[in-house]
Amino acid sequence: MVQTSNFSKSGKDPLAIAISRSSPSWYMGRIFPPLYPPEDLLEGYRSGVISQEEYTRRYNLEVLAKLDQYDVIDMIEDDAILICWCSSEKFCHRQLVASWLEEALDIQVFEVGSKPKTKKTTRFRHRDIHMSQTTLCVH
Ligand SMILES: [Zn+2]
Repeated sequence: MVQTSNFSKSGKDPLAIAISRSSPSWYMGRIFPPLYPPEDLLEGYRSGVISQEEYTRRYNLEVLAKLDQYDVIDMIEDDAILICWCSSEKFCHRQLVASWLEEALDIQVFEVGSKPKTKKTTRFRHRDIHMSQTTLCVH
């Protein structure tokens, strides 16, 4: 199961793989440059020149569209935790990677520590029981 997280939560996890252009000096884990955001895109977003929508569009086009989900899964292995700096509430390219993997591979990519985004489970409800005469207990 592929998961997403950030350095502060999962940087010491042996399954962590950084997909951000930089990492904390203490980070000794693996990195995966193919998913790094292009530098100009990152700078543009940081300085406010590029909106979240534009960032999403360009990251999809310039990074994800050039990769194949199956190849990526082969390289990172399917128990990887893809990490970046951003906190889980913030917009982050790891969310784009997560949906991109989810779409093609029919898997769910969870953020570490968050509740699984499973489809709402319908609570079991007793249906009105219609019993025919023959099934009624007559003791
Ligand atoms: Zn991020």
